[in-house]
Amino acid sequence: MLRTNASRLWSDLMTQGAIGALPLGGLDRMSLTDGDRDARGLFAHWCREAGLVVSIDGMGNMFGRRAGLDDSLPPVMAGSHLDTQSPGGKFDGPLGVLAALEVARTLHEAGIVTKRPIEVVNWTNEEGARFSPGLMGSAVFAGQLDLAAAHASTDRAGLRFGDELRRIRYAGHAPMGGRPVDSYFELHIEQGPLLEAAGITIGAVTHSHYSVFADVECHGANAHTQSEPMLRRRNALVGAARLIEAIDRVGRAHAPAGSASATVIDVWPNNRINIPHRAAFSYGVMHSDEAGVLAMDAEIEAARATIAAETGLSFSTVVKRRRDPIHFDETMIALTETVAAELALSVQRMRTRPGHDAFNMSRICPTELVFVPCRDGISHSELEWCTPEHCAAGADVVLHGVLARANR
Ligand SMILES: [Zn+2]
Repeated sequence: MLRTNASRLWSDLMTQGAIGALPLGGLDRMSLTDGDRDARGLFAHWCREAGLVVSIDGMGNMFGRRAGLDDSLPPVMAGSHLDTQSPGGKFDGPLGVLAALEVARTLHEAGIVTKRPIEVVNWTNEEGARFSPGLMGSAVFAGQLDLAAAHASTDRAGLRFGDELRRIRYAGHAPMGGRPVDSYFELHIEQGPLLEAAGITIGAVTHSHYSVFADVECHGANAHTQSEPMLRRRNALVGAARLIEAIDRVGRAHAPAGSASATVIDVWPNNRINIPHRAAFSYGVMHSDEAGVLAMDAEIEAARATIAAETGLSFSTVVKRRRDPIHFDETMIALTETVAAELALSVQRMRTRPGHDAFNMSRICPTELVFVPCRDGISHSELEWCTPEHCAAGADVVLHGVLARANR
């Protein structure tokens, strides 16, 4: 059976992983930074070297296209994202993009021309670390998010997505979605411990979890830290701290099926000698069952009301998004299982906790998310690691999945 070139894929991962490298082996390559720009440039170069025609749309999504025998047919796509968290690892994202590129090279070397065209994709701002929401490029491509709204998103320094996209010269002119896609494959590290613990190489992802994401503000009163009488103080940071602690408690009470954590916090005026009047923070809740996520959400809302009543502070919700599970296409899941078995790779069906661009693509075409194990289930960390063998196994599954779809 045809295989991808494992050592070339590994070499690409390590070479790409030198862009935005951190001391412990991780990456800092948030969306539309100079590091992201440089990683894109290298990817585009490799695509052209592999004979792919590169196009870029108005979100900076990059497509490396390999013509089909009937090039009027919708393409089979495969890819992921080159942006990372800060800090992030070398595999969360880049593995899916570079494995798809390796698939195109392998077909080229084998002299195989498929019936349908194939496109290798790099989606912009999957991580949402700098600009919110995450999964942004694929969301606009799939008609789930307005282009202007995405361009208006600002980072914490107030820089606009649209301005930063133009700054790095990746505001392209290719059609912004709205075109038919045959199917989409995304290879990704599991970002969890299940495959590694079970000694299984391939995860055929069936569906995702229930989740709630919220941006919340706590409002108090600005005052002098030294002179304001203690019992009159209304410190927004205290309200945020208490609610953040309550969110953690709710997450622990519902573990392991449920999880809840606050992440970002900004405080105003963020000055040593002022009592903060405003604290803004974000949190996420996740659960395998709908009843579970609703219960966790209700417990957090109840804690918020109690804290407000006890402290005299008030809370407001800036954004609250609820996400129901995405279900992937049964024929694509079954194809992944079949291909893995033909390659003599162990495979199991599983759910994903994190969100992926595949969620958005599943709304417009048959889609499958393919997982490979990562060490200790760690990601969004410099310690993230996937073995060369597992990277290659995942790429081989995508190769044969893409081939089957493109030649049917
Ligand atoms: Zn990712």
